[in-house]
Amino acid sequence: MLKECEILVVGAGPAGSSAAMAAAEGGARTLLIDRKKEIGTPVQCGEVVGETLLRKLKLKLPPGALAAKLDHTTFLLDRRVKLTSREPYWKAVTLERKIFDKALAARAAEAGAMVHADARLTDIKMDGDRVVQATIVHQGVEAKVHPKVIVAADGVHSTLSRLMNVELFTEKAMAKGIEYEMVSSRRLPSGMQIFLEPEVGLGYGWVIPKGPRRANVGLAAIGLKGSRRDRLQEWLTTNPMLASMFDVDKVLEVKTGDAPLPGFLGGPRRGNVLFAGDAAGQTLAFVGEGIAPSYACGMGAGAVAAAAVRQNDMSRLDCYENAIEDLLGSELAEGGDIKDNILNVWMDESIPAGDRTVLCGLLMSEVLFPEEIEEARALLSMPQQTMVRAMKDALAKRKARATVSALRLR
Ligand SMILES: Cc1cc2nc3c(=O)[nH]c(=O)nc-3n(C[C@H](O)[C@H](O)[C@H](O)COP(=O)(O)OP(=O)(O)OC[C@H]3O[C@@H](n4cnc5c(N)ncnc54)[C@H](O)[C@@H]3O)c2cc1C
Repeated sequence: MLKECEILVVGAGPAGSSAAMAAAEGGARTLLIDRKKEIGTPVQCGEVVGETLLRKLKLKLPPGALAAKLDHTTFLLDRRVKLTSREPYWKAVTLERKIFDKALAARAAEAGAMVHADARLTDIKMDGDRVVQATIVHQGVEAKVHPKVIVAADGVHSTLSRLMNVELFTEKAMAKGIEYEMVSSRRLPSGMQIFLEPEVGLGYGWVIPKGPRRANVGLAAIGLKGSRRDRLQEWLTTNPMLASMFDVDKVLEVKTGDAPLPGFLGGPRRGNVLFAGDAAGQTLAFVGEGIAPSYACGMGAGAVAAAAVRQNDMSRLDCYENAIEDLLGSELAEGGDIKDNILNVWMDESIPAGDRTVLCGLLMSEVLFPEEIEEARALLSMPQQTMVRAMKDALAKRKARATVSALRLR
């Protein structure tokens, strides 16, 4: 039987588990629920987390959750420019999210929260703008709880958003993704590879190593049409670099999902409900990185919710956005700005499609700033070697920890 709670957290992804942990640590009677029978499964994620965010959040990885350390990121742009960045932001780790997510939920339980898998929020009762009752189907049995505050950490297609008729972002601000966990034919590099090219569309493809010869290989794009499986299979077999490394008959796991990329929407609150993580579009929108941001925002939501309950003062919930800023600074807002700059270039049809992907990749890797786009455009019309030499000079002048070389994959 589900017991009554002061704070209900819906969804035990990184946002929900950190919210429940912070709420329980804040002294509130907290219930964390997830509709999944096993928290963390299935995975819908590339599983990579930037090292700088991990360090900033002092997030200690649970034992067994670290799959690989990645010491650089290589951008493969329009199959003709290869840029490798060793800037701190582009160093990362790959997780085993099944282990990571379950361990975070365990931390919430250890902090004192009640945790229930196979418990799905199905309905709510409102009084004005407040949710006063939540109906949960727990292992097939219906229960009702009456929390003072709810944290909606129920993912990109949030049930609470739907039930409350709240639209924080639309389908247009979502990238549709698919990836395979694959075995490569040879040893993989020690960094992540990001592919921007017209064949992928408005998004990017990736190879994220999880071990010397195992990687998540996938793509995500806004407005992806048709079957995701067909798009990935086609890309894997027609991109010469991928085709030489990966065999579509060596697939260990299939992972699909949608990633919200609206840009920073702050700390959304509706009545006594705080939206957190993907449900609130709290990703680094220019890359779709959401694990660490969701964890941070969930932490902020849980702490603020506990303070509101403890002091019996719902106006405390307005501190949510400040709590996020205390934890993350302006990271999410800046990520939203970079995404807008990328979109502006992508939408500019006066630029040839291939050149647009090179420019978007340079913006994404942060070796190019918006005011330099015209200059960079001129470079792209030069012969490949001249263009690469000019890019090398520009990187050297900037003292960027990045190298560039020519690729001939077309
Ligand atoms: C293809 C793809 C690749 C990605 N790769 C990366 C990456 O490499 N690195 C990165 O940082 N981010 C990545 N992301 C984004 C990342 O996965 C998310 O940002 C992150 O999981 C968000 O965490 P969350 O806790 O907000 O939501 P989620 O992890 O989605 O958790 C939400 C939880 O809510 C539960 N739930 C939903 N409805 C209900 C309900 N009615 N009742 C009870 N429970 C419910 C779900 O079962 C789920 O467990 C990727 C996303 C996609 C789609």
